[in-house]
Amino acid sequence: MGNRRPLIAGNWKMYKTCSEAVETARQLVKLTAAAADVDVMIAPPFTALSVVSEVVKDSNVFLGAQNLFWEKEGAFTGQISAAMLISTGCRHVIIGHSERRQYFGETDETVNKKIRSAIKNDLIPVFCVGETENERESNQTFTVLDKQLHNGLEGFSAGDLETLVIAYEPVWAIGTGKTATSDQAQETHQFLRSLVDKRFGNVLAKSIRILYGGSVKPNNIAELMAMADIDGALVGGASLSAEMFSQIVLYKE
Ligand code: PEP
Repeated sequence: MGNRRPLIAGNWKMYKTCSEAVETARQLVKLTAAAADVDVMIAPPFTALSVVSEVVKDSNVFLGAQNLFWEKEGAFTGQISAAMLISTGCRHVIIGHSERRQYFGETDETVNKKIRSAIKNDLIPVFCVGETENERESNQTFTVLDKQLHNGLEGFSAGDLETLVIAYEPVWAIGTGKTATSDQAQETHQFLRSLVDKRFGNVLAKSIRILYGGSVKPNNIAELMAMADIDGALVGGASLSAEMFSQIVLYKE
């Protein structure tokens, strides 16, 4: 996987009150203290960002958010800006998760605006792409990914995207217990990297991290991470338990 530093990211979705989040984060910091040569990130719900930030601030666990709104500020009830995330100690932000695309009207165009806002504010975007089961079965996987990547990154230069992380999350594998095989995931990651190469050049293609997401667990992480183009994981369900998530983080041990 070249010189790319692995990133293991946890998406806590709409789980955990403030006290539950603090407790899980505390355990995770302890359990992953010895993790070397890997970045670790957790994305609690917005409400728990500040309190979790206190727990992780002197550790090697980064704080991330699950979404943002692209405007700087204003009358946008219920929305959260990039500057607000930065002010809680966030370094990363997940953008375009399939649940947001499916239930909250997220489109490639809104994803594009959100990525722009994240980059402008020095947040690292974790840009999610992935095909549905129907799309895979009708052989449209590559067409769908090409379109998501093309539209999501419209108007950017290679220089803008130095920190960007891509997360390939086949929708049919999220929360379902079905995982893409490591060969299937590798084939798709290689394809995504080739798209980055074509569009933004070889330097970015070689350095960009592409995570796999979809029912990643302690028992399948090592096999996935052994693939040349898989640079980490975006983990949902298994990130809610510090015990399980730390086993994923420590996949090399
Ligand atoms: C996710 O939410 O990004 C995800 C991959 O979920 P899970 O690990 O539960 O499939």
